[in-house]
Amino acid sequence: MLDYLGLESDLDEEERLIQETARDFVEDNVAPDIGQHWIDGTFPTDLIPKMGELGFYAPNLEGYGSPNVSETAYGLLMQELEACDSGLRSMASVQGALVMYPIHAYGSEAQKEEWLPALGQGEAVGCFGLTEPEHGSNPTAMETQAEKDGDEYVLNGSKTWITNSPIADVAVVWARDTSADDTPVRGFLVETDRDGVTTNKIDEKLSLRASITGEIGLQNVRVPETNVLPEVEGMKGPLSCLTQARYGIAWGAIGAARDCFETAREYATDREQFGTPIGQFQLQQDKLAEMATQISLAQLLAHRLAELKERGDMRPQHVSMSKRNNVRMARNQSRIAREMLGGNGITADYSPMRHMANLETVYTYEGTHDIHTLILGEDLTGLQAYQ
Ligand code: FAD
Repeated sequence: MLDYLGLESDLDEEERLIQETARDFVEDNVAPDIGQHWIDGTFPTDLIPKMGELGFYAPNLEGYGSPNVSETAYGLLMQELEACDSGLRSMASVQGALVMYPIHAYGSEAQKEEWLPALGQGEAVGCFGLTEPEHGSNPTAMETQAEKDGDEYVLNGSKTWITNSPIADVAVVWARDTSADDTPVRGFLVETDRDGVTTNKIDEKLSLRASITGEIGLQNVRVPETNVLPEVEGMKGPLSCLTQARYGIAWGAIGAARDCFETAREYATDREQFGTPIGQFQLQQDKLAEMATQISLAQLLAHRLAELKERGDMRPQHVSMSKRNNVRMARNQSRIAREMLGGNGITADYSPMRHMANLETVYTYEGTHDIHTLILGEDLTGLQAYQ
């Protein structure tokens, strides 16, 4: 596997073990069928508990069954999962960074005890409801409301593009609390079997097909007050979760690019035209050289980001730069790899075109490429462009 700058020689034993465990899991359990899952638009749900058993959901958290591994180990895990398919990494990102993280950071003791071990083991599935039909890049304008009624809240609204909502047991729903004058955004744990909750599946996606996506409809859904995440108010709640998930994406996208590179390199040394492997032609070597360089630069960025996160110096803007760069890199390189495979490149027998289609989603979710550009623009100039 491409590690041109020898970054893996700095890994500690635990990081190596997690990387190998994820690689073996992917190779034995997912890789053989992922192309078919992608074509069928299905996710291998039977593997959800197995992924939990192996510690793939938020292993960087501490306590409640999570081993508190290093941020590099967590990043490597995301990289290995996305080397298989962005849908597989999305499963782990949502469950870990978008559901377990907010419960861990902002939940009550009872909420942590009820949900963290079950989610960590993959016995329960969670989803994260922020995006609404009319509010994607600007979630601050959300319309979903929670109205206090005695010791309950009544939720009304709709969320869309929610990864795993049709198979989730619990949704972290972000809504405006109308009982306070300034209607702050608050997080609510909504069990999906409550009256008034619907989770329709979104079909016919042409990207991230091996991932289940749906809506969350909330019609007079009553949840006890004890289902509110008590320790956070305002957009800091959802945005801090997104920082965690985007961190994983900055690593994960490298996996997709690396898999494209390895596939193209192997193909270029096997496939002969004009009596010689196509990898002997300078045009093809230029493509491989550029791909390897771009992947190596993205790896450097990810490793530096892990160091900053580990010592508490990582800012959301650092994550924006890394997500923006690494996903764009993967999106561009997947296309070059696809091209190197000629006609075979457009089939599901090879991974690059599947990665290429998936990366359209990765480029769009967790803050579009444009939005991360504006976040960086604001950080660099002090002037906000997106108001
Ligand atoms: P819009 O916000 O309408 O943007 C449309 C275009 O306008 C984009 O190109 C955007 O960059 C551009 N644009 C917007 N504002 C500006 C501006 N100020 N300046 C310049 N350009 C701008 N959401 C969840 O809450 N939970 C999930 O689990 C989840 N999973 C997803 C899974 C999939 C497969 C997909 C596709 C999306 C998922 N999302 C999820 C939603 C995702 O986060 C949103 O799609 C994303 O935030 C963009 O919002 P939008 O689609 O409404 O696009």
